[in-house]
Amino acid sequence: MHNPDVIVIGAGIVGAACAHALAHVGQSVLVLDARLGGATHAGMGHLVVMDDNPAELALSQASLAQWHAWAPRMAAEAPHTAFHACGTLWVAADAEEMQEAEHKRQRLQAHGIACELLGAAQLAALEPVLRPGLHGALRVCGDGMVYAPSAAEWLLGHAARPIRVEARRACRIDGRRVHCEDGSVHEGGAVLLAAGIHATQFCPELPLRPKKGHLAITDRGSATVHHQLVELGYVKNAHQTEGTSVAFNLQPRPTGQWLLGSSRQFDTLDPAVDNAVLARMLRRAMEYVPALADRNAIRTWTGFRAATPDGLPIIGRHPEHAHLWLAVGHEGLGVTTAPATADLVVASLLGTAPPTDPAPYAPTRFAQEYAA
Ligand SMILES: Cc1cc2nc3c(=O)[nH]c(=O)nc-3n(C[C@H](O)[C@H](O)[C@H](O)COP(=O)(O)OP(=O)(O)OC[C@H]3O[C@@H](n4cnc5c(N)ncnc54)[C@H](O)[C@@H]3O)c2cc1C
Repeated sequence: MHNPDVIVIGAGIVGAACAHALAHVGQSVLVLDARLGGATHAGMGHLVVMDDNPAELALSQASLAQWHAWAPRMAAEAPHTAFHACGTLWVAADAEEMQEAEHKRQRLQAHGIACELLGAAQLAALEPVLRPGLHGALRVCGDGMVYAPSAAEWLLGHAARPIRVEARRACRIDGRRVHCEDGSVHEGGAVLLAAGIHATQFCPELPLRPKKGHLAITDRGSATVHHQLVELGYVKNAHQTEGTSVAFNLQPRPTGQWLLGSSRQFDTLDPAVDNAVLARMLRRAMEYVPALADRNAIRTWTGFRAATPDGLPIIGRHPEHAHLWLAVGHEGLGVTTAPATADLVVASLLGTAPPTDPAPYAPTRFAQEYAA
């Protein structure tokens, strides 16, 4: 068997999207995955344009376009990917948040992103489950949701040329070679590390910090929600760098269940559900959707986001290792941003023109960490 052009370590959504994009440009790809069940299996799969800084906006906007382009094929070839262009409602609880909604509207529309401001009455008419007294919302029409584990599978199984996927735990990268725990050694033209929070096992210098998150899914109920509902305060919460925080985030699943987030906790790798944090998160959700009190949370779980100091992923060639590329640190947005990440990886690996400016995500921006 010939050596592959690229060995990808990690078959989460980021590794899968990169493998898919590499196959699309004719590269032969071997994907090694330890089946550890990473963030892709734990997360929410909300496909959302985030605009906290221009680089995040560029990556999420380009990615949303790709998700929409993939949608018809995913629906035909793997309906369980459950892509749905539900849109997001950024809910404003008071006048200050309404002002923030208006600023967000201006920023998004300046980039050609379809969105509209809704007043209190329009919001109540669209989503009657929300409590009365809210001030309104920003509706971002092109956002969506996907079942990320199935989407990753689809990306690996429906590429332009077959992608070899092997269940193996890599333990060491040595130039172009990857050594696995089972004693096998694999050699490729290049190695792409897309192992999520586990990437520091190979590159301890990577400035990745785990951010734990809780999720809960309810049983089915008769009340219907049409959009992903997120409180505007979520953005404050998402960018906090210390302490524990919660925010209201509800995703209506196609089954009629409601998937609830979100919480953020730093510097723990304990996967156990923390009942105090979970209770805070659910209380917060009930402040927005009182009808939640009539539902049962039938499963709760946690996952770990891989956070970088500036909140942007690390994409590109490792500054110290000529044959090693990185696609890590996607924090709470990696399902959304996997497609544009993959395009940047392809451009960097093949030396072609990048579709978006790669500088904000360049591994070299953490030069002092590599030197230390
Ligand atoms: C609670 C929570 C909610 C989230 N909600 C959203 C959301 O709504 N929208 C959104 O866009 N993003 C969301 N995210 C973030 C998103 O899930 C992640 O950014 C994304 O899944 C990261 O994908 P990844 O492929 O980089 O990593 P992972 O999904 O963690 O995949 C890493 C893969 O590497 C493999 N691996 C690790 N070590 C090895 C090894 N030694 N050898 C071989 N394989 C190895 C693992 O088995 C795993 O399959 C959420 C995350 C969490 C935790």
